[in-house]
Amino acid sequence: MKLHEYQSKALFAEHGVPIPRGAVASSASEAIVVAQDLGIRVVVKAQVLVGGRGKAGGVRLADTPKEAGELAARILAMKIKNLPVRKVLVDEAVEPITEIYLGVTNDRSANRPVLIASAEGGVDIEDVAHTDPEKIVRISIHPLLGLQEFQARYLASAIELPRDYWRDFIRISRGLFEAYVDSDATLAEINPLVITKNDRLMALDGKVVLDDNALFLHPDLAEMRDIDEEVPAERDARKYGLSYVKLQGTIGCMVNGAGLAMASMDVIKLMGGEPANFLDIGGGASAEKVTAGLRIILTDPNVKVVLINVFGGITLADEVARGILPAIADEKPKVPLVVRLVGTNEEEGQRLLAKAKMITVSTLEEAAQLSVDLAKKGNVE
Ligand code: GDP
Ligand code: MN
Repeated sequence: MKLHEYQSKALFAEHGVPIPRGAVASSASEAIVVAQDLGIRVVVKAQVLVGGRGKAGGVRLADTPKEAGELAARILAMKIKNLPVRKVLVDEAVEPITEIYLGVTNDRSANRPVLIASAEGGVDIEDVAHTDPEKIVRISIHPLLGLQEFQARYLASAIELPRDYWRDFIRISRGLFEAYVDSDATLAEINPLVITKNDRLMALDGKVVLDDNALFLHPDLAEMRDIDEEVPAERDARKYGLSYVKLQGTIGCMVNGAGLAMASMDVIKLMGGEPANFLDIGGGASAEKVTAGLRIILTDPNVKVVLINVFGGITLADEVARGILPAIADEKPKVPLVVRLVGTNEEEGQRLLAKAKMITVSTLEEAAQLSVDLAKKGNVE
């Protein structure tokens, strides 16, 4: 789950990270009130759960409350990377002299958190990562000892931060790391962390991604979820307890078990195709869950063929078939469905599916090969 900028910065502030004064607004008139209260030049910022708002015109400076209102109206009418803007953050504007990148995430290969910094932060950090990777400095953090002061100091020196700012930089690094650990985040990022004209270090932007599996420990954070900003398919999947991740390919996949789902995607790729999604219906899935999963796949316009791969153990093949049938009856899919359904209650499952127009095969290899062929044919037509 992603937090908005204003939520992320509020979380960082609780851990001692300095942020600009400001408040969110859902309308131009609210933005005017916030700007009046702040009483100085402001920045009006789109609150959407994607990056690159600045480049899309979603971050604008306003000299007067009236101008803040006009900009808010304009930004609230925008879509950024297809997401509608429903709120803006109105912050006191600052004058950044330097923009630094500072972030913490999991380093899966090291099994540890990693703190990352760069003197060349700001909207082009991705380019820096490609063209000048040596300008991005990382330190690995011991999961039990946590971020040590000397590590943060090393980072400050490695990015050649002037010594006057080291003390604040260390404090901010520790605050950010603490926020990351305490909220069970998988990413906590400040970009940019700026040195202002008044010689202060301040977080101008914030991004937090929380670990969904730990959200039950943080009801206060879970409540911050903005369902309006989520991809509808992912929202529906969560409702039915399905693990769904949308991908860019053309072969929709419905599989029981995360491991088998990954293996199915690998075999699709091996055969020269691209999966449209990851979907694990889980062990012992009910017919309703299967129906919901198949519906989600069928609503993806990129999907040219659906591959259903179920290896029944705890999951009952006939129950899966009972879930597939209503989805087909309701959605009347225009794309072919390739089904490999084996294991517990396989005969009954196959018997039920025989009534529906589906292509049944007995191995994953066959299923993948056929799906890839059908997806390619679909492209030609
Ligand atoms: P992003 O594009 O979604 O990452 O949004 P940011 O919040 O990082 O803003 C993008 C850029 O706008 C920053 O890198 C800054 O250069 C600029 N910016 C943001 N806030 C202010 C501000 O208060 N004053 C000025 N002058 N620039 C700002
Ligand atoms: Mn940013």
